[in-house]
Amino acid sequence: MDSTRDQSMEQQNKDGNQAAARKSAMIYICGECHQENEIKARDPIRCRECGYRIMYKKRTTRMIVFDAR
Ligand SMILES: [Zn+2]
Repeated sequence: MDSTRDQSMEQQNKDGNQAAARKSAMIYICGECHQENEIKARDPIRCRECGYRIMYKKRTTRMIVFDAR
């Protein structure tokens, strides 16, 4: 199925010996610029785009919508 992606993951894995870390990565949405960030369990939660530190989990489908009109 996704063999190409799996290969690249393996290559990354040689870098650090965090075999488990690649599975525990999650997608977070930046609270400031809404950029999607893949944050691994051991990584600090911080947006790579703007450095903002408040992130929302993407799995929370019910996005927090600020519809203050
Ligand atoms: Zn951001």
